Order: sequence, then C-alpha cells, then structure tokens
Amino acid sequence: QVHGYKGVKFQNWARTYGCCPEMYYQPTSVEEVREVLALARQQNKRVKVVGGGHSPSDIACTDGFMIHMGKMNRVLQVDTEKKQVTVEAGILLSDLHPQLGKHGLALSNLGAVSDVTAGGVIGSGTHNTGIKHGIPPTLVVALTLLTADGTILECSESSNAEVFQAARVHLGCLGVILTITLQCVPQFHLQEISFPSTLDEVLDNLDSHLKKSEYFRFLWFPHSENVSVIYQDHTNKPPSSSANWFWDYAIGFYLLEFLLWISSFLPGLVGWINRFFFWLLFTRKRESSNLSHEIFTYECRFKQHVQDWAIPREKTKEALLELKAVLETHPKMVAHFPVEVRFTRGDDILLSPCFQRDSCYMNIIMYREGGPWVAQSVKHLTLDFGSGRDLMVREFEPCVGLRAGTGPYLLLLPTRPYGKDIPRLDYWLAYETIMKKVGGRPHWAKAHNCTRKDFEKMYPAFTKFCAIREKLDPTGMFLNAYLEKVFY
Ligand SMILES: Cc1cc2nc3c(=O)[nH]c(=O)nc-3n(C[C@H](O)[C@H](O)[C@H](O)COP(=O)(O)OP(=O)(O)OC[C@H]3O[C@@H](n4cnc5c(N)ncnc54)[C@H](O)[C@@H]3O)c2cc1C
Repeated sequence: QVHGYKGVKFQNWARTYGCCPEMYYQPTSVEEVREVLALARQQNKRVKVVGGGHSPSDIACTDGFMIHMGKMNRVLQVDTEKKQVTVEAGILLSDLHPQLGKHGLALSNLGAVSDVTAGGVIGSGTHNTGIKHGIPPTLVVALTLLTADGTILECSESSNAEVFQAARVHLGCLGVILTITLQCVPQFHLQEISFPSTLDEVLDNLDSHLKKSEYFRFLWFPHSENVSVIYQDHTNKPPSSSANWFWDYAIGFYLLEFLLWISSFLPGLVGWINRFFFWLLFTRKRESSNLSHEIFTYECRFKQHVQDWAIPREKTKEALLELKAVLETHPKMVAHFPVEVRFTRGDDILLSPCFQRDSCYMNIIMYREGGPWVAQSVKHLTLDFGSGRDLMVREFEPCVGLRAGTGPYLLLLPTRPYGKDIPRLDYWLAYETIMKKVGGRPHWAKAHNCTRKDFEKMYPAFTKFCAIREKLDPTGMFLNAYLEKVFY
C-alpha cells in the first residue's frame, strides 16, 4: 500500500505561497497513484499534484491529498528518427537535458528555469520567447492522463483529440498527467548578445528586432528610459561565458539586495537604484554561447512576487508606454526590477494564454525580502535523501539535524522582513488594469485576481474546457482554492 505522510508543509520556490496538505504522497508507480485516487474517492478528499513547486501562486496548493511526482521521473523512450522523447511527467527538465544530449537532441524552447517538471510546464503554460516558437506545451505530441475514476486516457491529435487540446495546458485540474511525449530538435548551441538601448528605440523598431533575432527579448528598467536588448541565436561558436562573480553576485545580487532593503524604508530610492544598476551592469555589450538549455535558463537570484500576462503582440507599445506613464504620474508607486518582455507564436491549446494569437508577455517583478531566519519546531517531515531532489528537503533548507523518516525536527524558516511587507498592490493593480484593457490573459502559474467571469471573456474556448473538465472530474477531485476562483 502506498505510504502517505501527515504534517508536511509545502512552500513554493519563492516562499510566497504554502499549504499543509492533510496527506502527502510520493508514489513510485501508476498503481500507487491509482491507490491514492481510490483513497481520495473513498474518503471524499481533494487531490493536488505538484511538480517542481516553482509556480509563484497557490495553483499547486491544497489542504487535501498532495501527490509529489518526483519519483516518477524516468525517460521511457527516445525515438531518434522522429526526434521524440517520452518521459514520466515528474521528470525535472534539468534531468532531461543531459539525457536528450546523449541522443543529440534538445528542446527547441524552454522557460528561464529547468528545476521544473514536464507535468508542471504543461500544467501552467510555461513560456519563453521567440515569435516563431510556440510556448513549450506546443511541443507535446502525446500524453497519458489518469482521471479521477482511475481510467488512463492516451491523448494525441489522433486519440482523445479534444482532451489532448485541453490537456496541453491543464492547470492540474483534469487528472494526473503520467507521461508526456515531446517533439525535440537536433541539439544546438545558442549565442546570447545583450546590449543597451532605450524604450522608444525598441518599441519603434519592434518588428525589426523580432526579425533580427530568433529568441529576442528585452528588459525595461522602470523609472527610466533604459532597456537591455537580448538576442539569442543559433551559433557554431565554442562555449564562452561573460559571467563574472564580482559583477553578477557581489554587485548584481548582494549590493542590489542591500540597496533594495534600504529602499524598503526609503521607497523614493528605487528609481535611482534601477538607473544606477543599469549603468553599472547593462551599459556594455555582453556575449556568451553554450548549449541551448544553458543559454535559455538563467539564475533568478531573488525571491520575488511576480505577475506575467500575455497580450496581443501588436499592443506591446501601447501597454508599456501606459505602464511607464502611470509610474511617472504616481511617484509613490515603485517598481523594483526590470519588466521582462518576451514574444511567442499563437497556438490552438484551449487555455493557452497565446490561444489563436501571437503574443507579448510582460513580466513584472517585486522584490521579496528573505528576512531573518527563525528556528521552528515541526512535528513531522518527510525526507528523502536518496533522490537528493526531494521537494520538501529543498524547500526547508537550511535545516538542523535532519534524518530520513518522520519525527520532530528543528527547522530554520524565513520570516517576513522585520515584520513588514513591501507594498506592491498599487503597482500590481495599475499593471492588471492595463493588461485587461489591452486584452491580456494572465500566466496561470503566476498570481492574478481574475475569476471565471474574466476568463470567459478572455478565452473563446473557456466553456469548452470547462465541459471537458466537468466530464473528466465531475466531483471536482482535482480542484483547490485557486481553481475554484477560475471555474466558479
Ligand atoms: C525562478 C523562476 C523562474 C521562472 N521562469 C519562468 C519562465 O521563464 N517562463 C514561465 O512561463 N514561467 C516561469 N516560471 C514559472 C514556472 O516555470 C511554472 O510555474 C511551471 O509550471 C513550474 O513547474 P513546476 O514543475 O514547478 O510545477 P508546479 O508549480 O509544481 O505545478 C504547476 C501546476 O501543474 C500541476 N501539475 C504538475 N505536475 C502535474 C502532473 N503530473 N499531473 C497533473 N498536474 C500536475 C500542478 O497541480 C499545478 O497546477 C518561473 C518560476 C520561477 C520560480
């Protein structure tokens, strides 16, 4: 019988959301997942599957049964002729890349981090940039889904096609994704070139930038005109890096963190900090090249609050200039980090934010201070040192006196900075208002204030998705508080 644990506390990567599931499971086989679902049916419990726990919202939270897929993480098949790989949904992309590399394959696009699972990437519609590229869920050519009643559905364009069209961005509400087949491409190297520019220049020449670089994105530094343009393109150049510990960490992390902490007392400093750091770190051209996944991903050093909406690509200029104007007319409203602007091709996945339109993603971030650490006693904790990848181990580091098993432990957990939170709601609200006005759709993984009424307007196929969900999960086994706001 599958073993479950009580007393586990789950926190997402940024420690902005957490929950205490009634039971926590780490199944190792389909049969064990089925057992958990049978138990949930018997006891009328809700179930939430969690992947890498990276979603910066409560989408993966539950007070019912939590299933962590970390032990269902194998590569099942590699078809080198079709360049397709079939994996268990719990595999972390960071484990998949080297295995694909052995077969001379790679994913043509991925988000900024690889500590996420295949199931999670299609759970929330993870995206990157590149106007000729769809979001990574468009790379899915088949998947298997275990539904609430214990049935396994094989889904692809030719089998259960409607479920397939829904399940490639599934929000974790259709069932447990067991396996995923991904279309790959021959392994490739990318060269990244970043250089300084201005907001007007980039917005006036958007089409030209999009044509010039396959994976073009840019960072706009709020409270200024400054922009850092980033081009990523195929290359044959040998790997090279512009990374530098002093500039990237001593200045770009420790000094910046210190100054941002000061700005929590003197918010007026934020504009100056943004301009100072642009001048220090982004005014010279930088180049690096490496395997594609090394260039696509980058270290997000700061724990953050984040919002990220997809708007019609042609609304990019209007939306950014309006956000800039709002900041200029409300001097007390501050924006800590660069706004990251990325572009993607439209697709046909029912709840993809890029459904039927080429899109621009506009990502805003606010600093979330770590604050001092306090010791806390936790009664039960599941640990698995064997895999070294256990979600709970990572989320609860640093820990004192940990051993595998359950029992009382002393943990060091972060608290809010000096008992105060950093105000961000005025900026959040202004941003959301603009995004809604220009026809935006929020990233499913990231925090937003939208409800069913909004989604019905945003997504032409929203009711179709709801009908599929209600058919697959009539009792709402896979719902949680986040999803109730989406569907009710
Ligand atoms: C530092 C950082 C950088 C990021 N960069 C980007 C970025 O560049 N682009 C972007 O789009 N996003 C980005 N994100 C968000 C992140 O990529 C997404 O939230 C992604 O979904 C996380 O994958 P995960 O495995 O952690 O999923 P989780 O957060 O664990 O889960 C996400 C959803 O998928 C469901 N789920 C997961 N596995 C299964 C399964 N097997 N069966 C059923 N449901 C399942 C969960 O229930 C939940 O609803 C970033 C997040 C962080 C913290």
